[in-house]
Amino acid sequence: MILQLEKEAPVAPVAKALAALGYKTTEVSTQYAHYLVGIGKADVDIRRIGQLPGVRDVHRVSDDYKLVSRKWRTRPTVIDLGDGVRIGEGGLAICAGPCSIESEAQMEKVMAHLLANNVRLMRGGVFKPRSSPYSFRGLGLEGLRDFHRLAQANGIKIVTEVMQVSQVEEMHDFVDVFQVGARNTQNFNLLDALGSVDKPVLIKRGISGTIEELLSSAEYVFSAGNERLMLCERGIRTFETASRNTLDLNAVPILKEKTHLPVIVDPSHGIGLREHVPAMALAAVLAGADGIVYEAHETPETAASDGQQTLDFEESARLIRNLRRVFALRETLE
Ligand code: PEP
Ligand code: MN
Repeated sequence: MILQLEKEAPVAPVAKALAALGYKTTEVSTQYAHYLVGIGKADVDIRRIGQLPGVRDVHRVSDDYKLVSRKWRTRPTVIDLGDGVRIGEGGLAICAGPCSIESEAQMEKVMAHLLANNVRLMRGGVFKPRSSPYSFRGLGLEGLRDFHRLAQANGIKIVTEVMQVSQVEEMHDFVDVFQVGARNTQNFNLLDALGSVDKPVLIKRGISGTIEELLSSAEYVFSAGNERLMLCERGIRTFETASRNTLDLNAVPILKEKTHLPVIVDPSHGIGLREHVPAMALAAVLAGADGIVYEAHETPETAASDGQQTLDFEESARLIRNLRRVFALRETLE
């Protein structure tokens, strides 16, 4: 059960009344509101709870995850990054950029490409989780500062991965969206830490994570205080070896049904094969995605990481055009 409380309402009497009904409660205070999440038996008349002093409204939510559930909040969450960049408002968000930030020259070229195609969201990692310790591991905080400065100068918002708790604070002023990578989806300390920042978080699905586990990861961040969340399907590990991962497009309509959070799809990591990234991106739009994030680089063959799944600018520009056409088509479907 979720209770939304009046702003200054004292919590203790409400929690006490719920405890008397057999509910264990957790107080949640976010940038927008004040809640009490109750875990307990379902056979209570919630109208009685709604009448308690200080309770604005009350909802029964049977899912294990509560605050991210659509059973409670039917209105879709919109992530407003400022300067007119919004995600999850019925439009299609497009975010592109290199797997890794490599140099100022590289960033400038990508930004010029994005602006030429009217895209104002750029991805790029400065802390890179690599399977091998000998691979390029990113430019770190220095690189992030440059990324942020150039992005600001160009009116672009940035999405970049945070790998550990200690980085949250040092990265904070230089990111527009924190990305939690697939290897960290269940790093609960990191999720908790991201609950106390007022920056949106994009949470990727774990490499072998279920949809329910992804929702529970989002629940961690929300219950720790941050409502500004997005989910990202990026492929899961299956027995299939013909592609890097198996992009689970089933997850898109299922997530859209289960949660009010925006659902983004990453076809680059999802299939891992450059020539097939556009097809999966377009399919994701028809499946109902709120946004697409993919890897793009001037010369993918020289990229410091993930070149095999990275589009060059010509391919990227074509994909952007086609994404918009398919999105317009989706809008006309019955
Ligand atoms: C990335 O976005 O570059 C990345 C490492 O993604 P994932 O965590 O999905 O593997
Ligand atoms: Mn990558």
